Amino acid sequence: MTEAVTENPGTQAETHAFDAEVHQLLKLMINALYSNREIFLRELISNASDAIDKLRFIALTDAELQASVQPPSIDLSFDAEAGKLVIEDTGIGMTRDEVVENLGTIARSGTARFLESLSGDQQKDAQLIGQFGVGFYSSFIVAEQVTVETLKAGQSADTAVRWQSRGEGEYTLETIERAGHGTRIVLKLSEPHRDLLDAQRLRSIIEHYSNHVAFPIRLEQMVAATEDAEETTELEQINDTQALWTRPKAEIGEQEYQEFYGGLTGDFEPPAIWAHHHVEGTQSYSMLLYLPSRAPFDLAWNRDERSGLKLYINRVFIMDAAESLVPRYLRFVRGVIDSADLPLNVSREILQDSPLLSKIRSAVVRRSLDMLEKLASQGGEVWDTVRDEFGNVLKEGIIEDPANRERIASLLRFESTQIHDEARTSLADYLQRAQASSNESDEDGTDKPKQTIWYLLADSRARAL
Ligand code: ADP
Ligand code: MG
Repeated sequence: MTEAVTENPGTQAETHAFDAEVHQLLKLMINALYSNREIFLRELISNASDAIDKLRFIALTDAELQASVQPPSIDLSFDAEAGKLVIEDTGIGMTRDEVVENLGTIARSGTARFLESLSGDQQKDAQLIGQFGVGFYSSFIVAEQVTVETLKAGQSADTAVRWQSRGEGEYTLETIERAGHGTRIVLKLSEPHRDLLDAQRLRSIIEHYSNHVAFPIRLEQMVAATEDAEETTELEQINDTQALWTRPKAEIGEQEYQEFYGGLTGDFEPPAIWAHHHVEGTQSYSMLLYLPSRAPFDLAWNRDERSGLKLYINRVFIMDAAESLVPRYLRFVRGVIDSADLPLNVSREILQDSPLLSKIRSAVVRRSLDMLEKLASQGGEVWDTVRDEFGNVLKEGIIEDPANRERIASLLRFESTQIHDEARTSLADYLQRAQASSNESDEDGTDKPKQTIWYLLADSRARAL
C-alpha cells in the first residue's frame, strides 16, 4: 500500500494516505449509491454484529477473555443539532494495525476485483455494489467525516485507537483511551443527509434492513421532562433478536424470510426461492437455504473463494463454511446451518472429517436441487432468470457430482435450432423431439430409438447459425 505517513505537528495524530483504490471506491460509491443511501446503516450494523460474533467465538476457548466480555449490544444515538449519528458495539474491536489494514487498504481481494469489473454504467454499478456488500466505506455516502474509536478485546484501555477521515484521500490515526472493548463510530452527516437524524426514520431503516440481526440493536430515545424529572434518554430495543432459522416454519411469514435474506446477503432483490428444514434425531440441525434471483458479479470465475453459507452452533456464529458445506457447482446457494451437535472448538479440519457435516452437506445438495427442480417445474420468469444466471455454473456439477448427474442434467437448458426467443430446451424435450423425427424415418420400428444428441459449441447463438 501507499503508506505516506506525515507527523501532524501540534497533535499526536498521524496522517496516512488511503490506498489509491479506496479513494476510487469512495467516489464511485457515493455516486452510484446516492439513491440507496440508507444502506450505510445496514453495513455498519452488520459490521457491529460480525464483531460481536467474532468475540463470542474466540471467547469460547479463552476463559480469561470470556470473563471480561461485555454483553452484546449495538447502540445507536444521535444529536440532530450537531448533525451526528453514533453507532457503538461491544464487539471484538480492532488493534491499530487492524484499523490500518481494514479501514485504510483494500485488503479483501474481492474489492479489487470488484473495481475491475465496474462497467462505468451507473445503474449497473449500483446493482453490483448493492449485492456485493460495500461495507464500511458506505458511511461516506452520507457523512462528511467519520470517526472510529476502537479497543480490541483483551488489550489495555490505553491502546485504543481513533481513526478519522473525511473520505478525501487521507485519514488520521491516534492512540486514545477507551474503557471497554468494542467500537464506536461517529458520523458527522453532511447537510443534505441530516434528515436521517430522526428517531422514527432510524427506527424504520433498522427494521427494514437489520431486523434479524441476532444481537439487540438499541436506539436512544428522549424521554420528555416531567415535573419530577428532567429530560432523560433511554435505550429502546428495535429488532427481533430471535434467530429466524430456529423458529418453527409455520410461524414465519414470507416477508420475514425475504427480509432475513436481505440482511444475510445484502442483496436488494428478493430471493427466487427458499427452503427451511429442522432435522431432529440423534444429531439435529436447522437449515435455511436460499437461491438468489441474481448471480454475484464474480460467480463464474470465483470458484475457490466461496462464501454465503453460515455455520452456527447453537446460535453462535462459527464461520462461513461454504467450502465445507456446499459443492462448487452450487456456490450460488446462500443460507444458514445451525447445529447443537458440533464441537464448539470446531476448526476447518474437524469440519472436513465430521460425519454430521457430511450428512448436512448432502442435505444441502439435495435441498438445493429440490429448489431448482421446483423452480423449473413452475417455469415462468423466475426460472428463466435463475436458469440464465446459474445454468453455466450448474453444468460443472455434471463432472463434480457424478452421484447426482441425472438430477443435474435434467435441470440444464440449451439453445436449440427449434426454439427461439428466450426459451431453452431441456435434454428430455430434445430427445423426445429427436425420437419423434427418427420414428418418422424409421418406419419399421425394429431398431431401438436412437438417442443421439447433436450439438454445436459456440459462444453465441448468432455465431452458431
Ligand atoms: P466486511 O464487513 O465485508 O469485511 P467492511 O468494509 O464492512 O467489510 O469492513 C472491513 C473490516 O473492518 C471488517 O472485516 C472488520 O475487520 C473491520 N471492522 C469494521 N467495522 C468493525 C467493527 N464495528 N468492529 C470491529 N471490526 C470492524
Ligand atoms: Mg461489513
